[in-house]
This record gives sequence, structure tokens and C-alpha cells, in this order.
Amino acid sequence: MNIILLGPPGSGKGTMAGLIQKKYSIPQISTGDMLRSNIKEGTELGKKAKAFVNAGELVPDSLVIAMVKERLSEPDCENGYILDGFPRTIAQAEALDSIAKIEAVIDLILDDEKSIARMSGRRVCPSCSATYHVSVIGDEKLCSKCGTELVIRKDDEESTIRNRLKIYHEMTSPLEEYYRKKGLLVSIDVDGSIEENFAKILSALGVYS
Ligand SMILES: [Zn+2]
Repeated sequence: MNIILLGPPGSGKGTMAGLIQKKYSIPQISTGDMLRSNIKEGTELGKKAKAFVNAGELVPDSLVIAMVKERLSEPDCENGYILDGFPRTIAQAEALDSIAKIEAVIDLILDDEKSIARMSGRRVCPSCSATYHVSVIGDEKLCSKCGTELVIRKDDEESTIRNRLKIYHEMTSPLEEYYRKKGLLVSIDVDGSIEENFAKILSALGVYS
């Protein structure tokens, strides 16, 4: 089962990826993590990538594709994988088509206002990194684990979230169109509970398994 997972910030994409990974015993492949580990391990591709990163430039598609290709040929990908954060562009999607057979593109759909409500309600403890949500803790200002005053991360401020959502939609709509034309796009409304959302994904994947 070779899957691409798309979803805006606040859609619970990470949680869903984790659940799919566990259910089907397939790895979740994030190009960000992959880049970091190649650079850390000093692989040939990692050395090339590092030169771009150090120069403050984007790592070129050809290099990212080469890394993805190598990663997908590893034994743990034999029964499938979940691609997260890749492809980001049509050029990457086309290159991916030449090295892999994607069977489904799970597109998590969540209204922007709901994404914002979920994310701007997040509070984090700057001391022990515990995370909370105002829908659970209400007006509580202190970390229940260590008593430190909770803060809103810069990433979770409303203006930052709106900007991230705008960038996400601009980047994703051509990809949605690309995979829709191929008949691979599976849109899932994720406005329910984690269990409900995951059940929808499983039932959609049932068609492909
Ligand atoms: Zn704390």
C-alpha cells in the first residue's frame, strides 16, 4: 500500500499517519527527516544536500527524488509506505511517478476556521514541553506537571496559522488536481474525533487494499 498523505496544519495529519503506520506496519516517510538523517550520516546524497542547506538554498528536486528513490528501495518499504510532506510540487509528483506506483492519495479536509480553532487553542509548557489545549484545560494558566506558566508557541499564533494555511492551499491545490485526474485522490473530512476520522480513512483504503 503506497500512500501519500496530504493535510493542512491542524488536521491531525501526524496522528493519522501514526495510526495508519501501526495498522498496516508500513513506514512513514518524511522528506524533512530523510534529509536530516542523510546529512547526519554523511551519505553521498547527504553531502550534496548539505552544500545547498549551508548556502541557505532549497535542496533541488533531483536530489530529493534521488533520496526518496533510495529510501523506497529499503526492505521496510516492501509492503508499502506513507509519504508525508512529499511531493510538494507537480514536478516532484511527476518524478515520483517514474520511481513509484502510488495507490492512493489521502487528502485530509478541514475547514480553515476549524484548523485555526484547534491550533490557536494549543498551549505549551516552556519548561517541560507538555502540551495542552484550551478546550480541555479552560482558563488554567499553569503546567499541571511542573507549575510553569504556559505559553502560545509562535507557530500557533493566529496570524502565523492563517499564513501557513494560505501557503498550504496554494501548494496543495495543483497536487489535488493532479491526483484527482489520475483517480487517486481520496478526500476525507476530518472534523470528527480521532477514531471517527481514522475509521473513514480505513474504509476508504479498503477499496485499495
Ligand atoms: Zn511543565
